Amino acid sequence: MTTAAPSVTVRVPAKVNVQLAVGGVRPDGFHPLANVFLAVGLYDEVTAAPAPELRITCTGPGADQVPLDRTNLAARAAIALAELHGLAPDVHLHIAKDIPVAGGMAGGSADAAGALLACDALWGTATTTDQLLAICAELGSDVPFSLVGGAALGVGRGEQLTPLAVGGEFHWVFAVADGGLSTPAVYGEFDRLTAGLEVPEPEASETLIAALRTGDATALAAALTNDLQAAALSLRPSLAAALAAGTDAGALAALVSGSGPTTAYLVKDAEAAQRVADALLASGTCAAARPAVAPAPGATVL
Ligand code: ATP
Repeated sequence: MTTAAPSVTVRVPAKVNVQLAVGGVRPDGFHPLANVFLAVGLYDEVTAAPAPELRITCTGPGADQVPLDRTNLAARAAIALAELHGLAPDVHLHIAKDIPVAGGMAGGSADAAGALLACDALWGTATTTDQLLAICAELGSDVPFSLVGGAALGVGRGEQLTPLAVGGEFHWVFAVADGGLSTPAVYGEFDRLTAGLEVPEPEASETLIAALRTGDATALAAALTNDLQAAALSLRPSLAAALAAGTDAGALAALVSGSGPTTAYLVKDAEAAQRVADALLASGTCAAARPAVAPAPGATVL
């Protein structure tokens, strides 16, 4: 009798930025951020299994745009964890994608967090949460949040996290656009649009944090902001029609998710979510419309 090789699968959520306050570009090229992350119930799954050498496979929507070499964020996560423990990163990582690729929902970051947790369990390396978070921060500013989930304020480059209380469920619809937008290109457009202007220091909105705490969707809708929205719309003007289609269909608020081009619609309840999703699809302004509930837990071993 042969025993099947063990494998570990981790489920990781997408995120929406309910506030993305962006300061002026610093000499090192980075922008200071006040970033309120909310994890939403759209998930990638990362499975780690023993292999003779590091290998990445990927299935699901947009899988053809995901690199399968060592530039894949999940591969980089496995390499960093192996280095920490003096191991070889001999693992097969399979990514089952459901988070839109290059969609402003931190799909690559989710895969990195998922790979870390899956490899840690597969290799029995019992890495502490602080060590995992340190690797996450090295890999990218959205990666630590993918590990912890829920809701959090991120400052610095967005990677210094403070967990936030969420007092209820929020219902969302995400409209997936055709093709992605490059996050660096959107920041470049932000710099172009703000050149010569006084860009205020980013600050977290107390009103928005209170709306999360009380679970009040109407108050949250009024407080949503994304400083990258103008830049994303400038690069992809067609997103304006998607935002309008969602609010016409009764969404409480509509905004670009992160650097886009996914657009996010906050709605009252599950029924409104279905209605707005149907209207968005019928409007022809998006490729897919996905209802999702927040907050979602962070990376979880299944
Ligand atoms: P963010 O919201 O964090 O700015 P995003 O959701 O806009 O990110 P991703 O889906 O993370 O974008 O992909 C950005 C780019 O990263 C892709 O175009 C792809 O080339 C590269 N990439 C590297 N690893 C991955 C991965 N595991 N999944 C998806 N993209 C990856």
